[in-house]
Amino acid sequence: TKFSELALRAEIQQALAAQGYESPTPIQRQAIPHALEGRDLLGIAQTGTGKTAAFTLPILERLSTSDRRRAPGTARTLVLTPTRELAIQIGESVKAYGANLKLTHTVIFGGVGQKPQTDAMKPGVDILVATPGRLLDLMNQGFVRFDNLEAFVLDEADRMLDMGFIHDVKRVIAKLPAERQTFFFSATMPGEVAQLAQRLLKDPVRVEV
Ligand code: AMP
Repeated sequence: TKFSELALRAEIQQALAAQGYESPTPIQRQAIPHALEGRDLLGIAQTGTGKTAAFTLPILERLSTSDRRRAPGTARTLVLTPTRELAIQIGESVKAYGANLKLTHTVIFGGVGQKPQTDAMKPGVDILVATPGRLLDLMNQGFVRFDNLEAFVLDEADRMLDMGFIHDVKRVIAKLPAERQTFFFSATMPGEVAQLAQRLLKDPVRVEV
């Protein structure tokens, strides 16, 4: 399979070529066609499988197609990930794959000043990548809202649990609109993670790599 067989616009194909990607990884090949149709996705995959592009590419495509627009203080997509390092990495992937698109993104994590993050949220963003604690903090202060949310990604769900972030994650999720596309990724599927997946996903496509 080649990327050109996937229904991704030329701007995205060009960005992938610029990254030196020739063909989709197994999770990308299995997930992207369904995600482009708006299906929810359950991905059982570790880092290194190409899971970031498996959710980022269809999200970029759908945000570009959608007639909804950014609104102040809101995000159209939320990617929740457990660590600052992962958040930064995902932000870099969004930037690379979306380089030829007119979409905006920002990254929010703890341990640094919040002013640059709240400033970045003021006009609203198409894609917000965040760790749960700081995000909840900014939500509670009214700096981040999700009235316009179109897609939600929960990345590394099992690590969220291991790291004790699951309560914050659930508090964030409680504030998200029910009507949205949801992507759920975990390397492992212990009972509590499977339960959360079942609560969050509607008729998901399951991809295990
Ligand atoms: P991830 O599992 O999302 O952390 O991705 C692992 C690494 O694989 C990252 O460095 C990506 O840039 C790279 N990658 C993702 N998809 C592809 C692809 N289709 N072809 C080549 N490299 C890729």
